[in-house]
Amino acid sequence: MATPRGRVRVRGVEKPMQDARVLIVGGGIAGLTSAIALRRAGHRVEVIERDPTWSVYGVGIIQQSNVVRAMSMLGLLEDYLGAGFGFDHVDVFRPDGTHVATVPSPKLTPGYPANVGIARPALHKILGDRAKACGAQVRLGVVVDSLRDDGRGVDVAFSDGSEGRFDVVIGADGLYSSIRQMIFPDAPPPRFTGQGVWRHNFERPADLVSLHVYDGPIGMGLVPLSQHLMYMYVTTPEPGNPRYPREGLAAAMRSKLQHAPPRIAELAERIQDDDQVVYKPLEWQFLTGDWHKGRIVLVGDAVHATTPHLGQGAGMAIEDSLVLAEELSRAGSYEEAFRAYRNRRFERCKFIVERSRYICESQLGLHPPVDQAFETRQMFEVIAAPI
Ligand SMILES: Cc1cc2nc3c(=O)[nH]c(=O)nc-3n(C[C@H](O)[C@H](O)[C@H](O)COP(=O)(O)OP(=O)(O)OC[C@H]3O[C@@H](n4cnc5c(N)ncnc54)[C@H](O)[C@@H]3O)c2cc1C
Repeated sequence: MATPRGRVRVRGVEKPMQDARVLIVGGGIAGLTSAIALRRAGHRVEVIERDPTWSVYGVGIIQQSNVVRAMSMLGLLEDYLGAGFGFDHVDVFRPDGTHVATVPSPKLTPGYPANVGIARPALHKILGDRAKACGAQVRLGVVVDSLRDDGRGVDVAFSDGSEGRFDVVIGADGLYSSIRQMIFPDAPPPRFTGQGVWRHNFERPADLVSLHVYDGPIGMGLVPLSQHLMYMYVTTPEPGNPRYPREGLAAAMRSKLQHAPPRIAELAERIQDDDQVVYKPLEWQFLTGDWHKGRIVLVGDAVHATTPHLGQGAGMAIEDSLVLAEELSRAGSYEEAFRAYRNRRFERCKFIVERSRYICESQLGLHPPVDQAFETRQMFEVIAAPI
């Protein structure tokens, strides 16, 4: 029986076929892991990325037990661990530098480290190389001009003048998602939290073999990234959301660390090059309604962007990709797949976004101070559950 492309009827039930044609908008962590997961499930995948240079900034990212498990499910674990630094616990310190707790991380992938710190460019290269190697078409410097969903597929007009028709369009284009704006124009825009984060890479000292987190109104942490590299992050109140020009960034970051404990203060002295400082205002976004409209569905920061206080934004994006690919392969219709995907992801992502925001707001004095050891233990319990 003839069916719209990408679908087949099995005993009267319409099933998505193995070779659905999928457009992924955004070649970041969510887009590339979606591409890999969908290629592994046999779909045809095209990724478009707005940035013609396809670059990411050069600091690091914390990836915890659930990400190690997800990378294993994506078949990426060896590449990933080879480029990062594995560790099994989180050390928590008071604002004065006193060590108060060691929180073991759940080991979800037998025989491998619980967590990984990795440089963002290294992670980006692993994901980009694998997406292309497994057959995803990647086009750079291209965005979507318009989408027309007729219920059986989506006609897309691209900014380079080309056009295409797809069974599914995935919006993986981040916090300021253009696809979200196209399908949900009334969704609330991302909100600024009142905090910013400052980051800087350093040579990793031999004794930095776990994630170090400092309690207090100025959040600080040290993250091992490789045999040679670590990075420091500092979250600060930024009333009015000031814009910091590149010139003077190093001095501005040093000034935020005037009362830091000795280990951090010593590192702060070494912050001298404006180009090595990455500053970002912290924003969040969470869609409480649908995560799809018709054949168009959102993943990653496009639908749930968290502040980094629990180090889980990318983790949630990667898990989204696995769950969406799984549901597309087993549901009886796209609608069913997208609803099942959202149902499986909603509470977990909500917890991460809300709890991260709570920690952020407590650092800003809007709630009582949090105990990072408690928060870390609680987060580990949540993310250890199967996706
Ligand atoms: C300061 C900070 C620290 C963080 N630290 C951690 C951490 O330690 N651990 C962790 O798990 N998470 C962390 N996160 C969160 C993590 O970075 C994000 O959750 C993750 O990058 C989301 O991936 P994404 O692919 O959804 O979005 P993005 O990474 O934003 O990727 C979106 C991609 O889409 C492209 N794009 C944008 N618009 C368009 C368009 N119109 N058309 C085509 N392409 C487009 C962009 O160029 C980009 O390549 C942190 C976030 C911040 C802000």
